Amino acid sequence: MDKDNIKCSFCGRDKRDTLVLIAGITGHICDKCIAQAQNIVQEELSSKINENIVNSLNLLKPFDIKKHLDEFVIGQDDAKKVLSVAVYNHYKRITQKATGEDDVEIEKSNVILVGETGTGKTLLARSIARILNVPFCIADATVLTEAGYVGEDVESILSRLLQAADYDATAAERGIVFIDEIDKITRKSDNPSITRDVSGEGVQQALLKLLEGSVVGVPPQGGRKHPEQKLVQLNTKNILFVCGGAFDGIDKIIGRRLNTQAIGFNSKNEEEAAVDVDNMLQYVAPQDLKKYGLIPELIGRFPVLTYLNPLDHTTLRRILTEPKNSLIKQYVKLFEMETIELSFDKKVLDYIVEKAVEFKLGARGLRSICEAIMMDAMYELPSKGDEVKEFKVTLPYAKMKMKKSTINKLKVA
Ligand code: ADP
Repeated sequence: MDKDNIKCSFCGRDKRDTLVLIAGITGHICDKCIAQAQNIVQEELSSKINENIVNSLNLLKPFDIKKHLDEFVIGQDDAKKVLSVAVYNHYKRITQKATGEDDVEIEKSNVILVGETGTGKTLLARSIARILNVPFCIADATVLTEAGYVGEDVESILSRLLQAADYDATAAERGIVFIDEIDKITRKSDNPSITRDVSGEGVQQALLKLLEGSVVGVPPQGGRKHPEQKLVQLNTKNILFVCGGAFDGIDKIIGRRLNTQAIGFNSKNEEEAAVDVDNMLQYVAPQDLKKYGLIPELIGRFPVLTYLNPLDHTTLRRILTEPKNSLIKQYVKLFEMETIELSFDKKVLDYIVEKAVEFKLGARGLRSICEAIMMDAMYELPSKGDEVKEFKVTLPYAKMKMKKSTINKLKVA
């Protein structure tokens, strides 16, 4: 070929009209064609990644997500519904392909769950992650401090997620993070103070960075103890954050807002009278969280706010036996592995619930009470070989074991 007559083999541009013309074995390619080809490759790759995400995610419809949640979590229908929709929309957002400029961008749907301790906030988030087959981690907001202070940096949350994803950064980038006790990092008063508040507002500010969807340098082993470790870059854009908190005393804030003090004597209209004062959390609104001490910027990053009901007698009784991996089913399974058929008198189950209510420990109390009752049997029976084929827990047996146990010390005054 004539040296002065070289052309790009793709667009036919003359060498003189290009900045760079790279020679291949049989042809040439110009800078413009390279740039164009790179765009095509990137689009193809991102649509392939999207496809992979859709394939690896169990993208169920909200109705089905709720149905699955029902297998693990008893009651809490409102929270389940809200969470199912939020999660569904979130993952639809991730898999949404950029199809044009006027594409409606779906906003991220981070969730705040408000509910007394032990009512199933963590369980809900954990169950969602299991259903969707995505990495999941739990972080405790109380150990977080602003960078540079004693405690954990907010980035440590992502270290846990990365570990949960077996250090697969792409998987971690679409995981779910549950931040517990978010109510413990509220600022000390509603007025912004001039003194530094490293464990309250400072942490909220630091969390904003993660919630906003930025690329964060994450120490894979967590903590600051290994300063030499190489940081992994994680983009938090598609990580779903679910926060939980008991927000002790928020019912009074909600009450004041709803002006329910008048209830009972001189309620002005029916709507006011219809307020259920025993379960004020169901009326929780973003402004209550602000009053409680969360900064507005943080609240703004959590568009979905829902509540959990306190657990009553009936719900606790159902929790004991109904969920797919209920406590009672777990004990039966454990004994089955020893080829012992375990059963409980109905009265024992009622007794366990009664004690849990008495100890004011919510569903967590069920576990400790069951352990107290079952400990001796679990200790002794496995050594008995084939002698024991059946073990029935009766009310007198349960009461005797409870009396002997130190669990009574757990009783809350
Ligand atoms: P929270 O995060 O609200 O403090 P958890 O989700 O950790 O409470 O619940 C504590 C334990 O109680 C869980 O391990 C679970 O076994 C049980 N539990 C609580 N609420 C429910 C529920 N609604 N349905 C089934 N189990 C529950």
